[in-house]
Amino acid sequence: MPPAVSVENVTFAYGDQPAVEDVSLTVEQGDFLGLVGPNGSGKTTLLHLMLGLHSPDEGTIELFGEPVETFEAGERIGYVSQQATEKGSTMPVTVREVVTMGRFAHAGHGRLTEPDRTAVEEALETVGITDLADRRINQLSGGQRQRAYIARALASEADLLALDEPTVGVDAESRDAFYHLLDSLNDDGITVILIEHDIGVVTDRADHIACINRELYHHGDTESFVESDALAEAYGSSGQVLHHHH
Ligand code: ADP
Ligand code: MG
Repeated sequence: MPPAVSVENVTFAYGDQPAVEDVSLTVEQGDFLGLVGPNGSGKTTLLHLMLGLHSPDEGTIELFGEPVETFEAGERIGYVSQQATEKGSTMPVTVREVVTMGRFAHAGHGRLTEPDRTAVEEALETVGITDLADRRINQLSGGQRQRAYIARALASEADLLALDEPTVGVDAESRDAFYHLLDSLNDDGITVILIEHDIGVVTDRADHIACINRELYHHGDTESFVESDALAEAYGSSGQVLHHHH
C-alpha cells in the first residue's frame, strides 16, 4: 500500500516570504496525523502543498503513490478548509445540496443515480445531520456546518480527510462529539490529517504528530512527540521572534 501522502524535501515561499522549508514526512494510509505549530508556522501552507493547491518550489509530493501534479482521483480527498466553517463564507444552498456536491465526481456530467442519492443520505446519517438536510448551510452553527462538510467528503467516499482547524468557534460539547466522529471514521480506515491549535486535543486523538515552524521539528508517533522537546523548540523560536523588537 503506498502512503496516503509522501512529502520529500519540500520548500515553498510566497514571493520572498519563506513558509515551508525542506520538510519531509510520510502519512501512511490509516494514520491519524495531527499537524501542529505556532500561528504562521506554515501548517495551512503545508496542507495546501500536500493537496496540490500550491506547487512546491523544491521537492516532491505524492498522493497515494502518484505525483500530486497528475493525481486525478480528487474524490478520494475530503478537504475542509480553515474558512469552511466560518459563517457568511458559504453560498445559500441547502445542507443536502452541499453533501450532494460530494457525488459529482462519481456522477460525472450525468444525472445523479440512485446509489448517489443513497450515498448522500448515508453520509448525512453518519454525521448525524439528517434532520438538518433541508436547512440552508449558512443558517447552521459552526459545529453543524463542519459536519456538513465532513458529510460531503464521506459522500464522495474520500479515504483521506484533511481538516484545517475545524473546531475554531465551535462549542466544547460539539467539539467533543466532532472528535468522536473523527475517531470512528479513522477506525473505519479513513486517513485523517488534522490541523489543530489545541495541543491537548491533538495528542489525545492523533496517533502521529508533525510539529512544524517553517521547518519540521518532529514527526513520529504521538508518544515520542510528547516525550520530545519539539513543542517547546518549535513554539519557543516563534516566541523569540516576537521579542526581537527594533
Ligand atoms: P499557519 O497555518 O501555521 O498559521 P500559514 O501556512 O497560513 O501558517 O502561513 C505561513 C506563513 O506564510 C506566514 O508567515 C504567513 O504570513 C505567510 N502566508 C500565508 N499565506 C500567504 C499568502 N497568501 N501570501 C503571502 N504570505 C502568506
Ligand atoms: Mg492556518
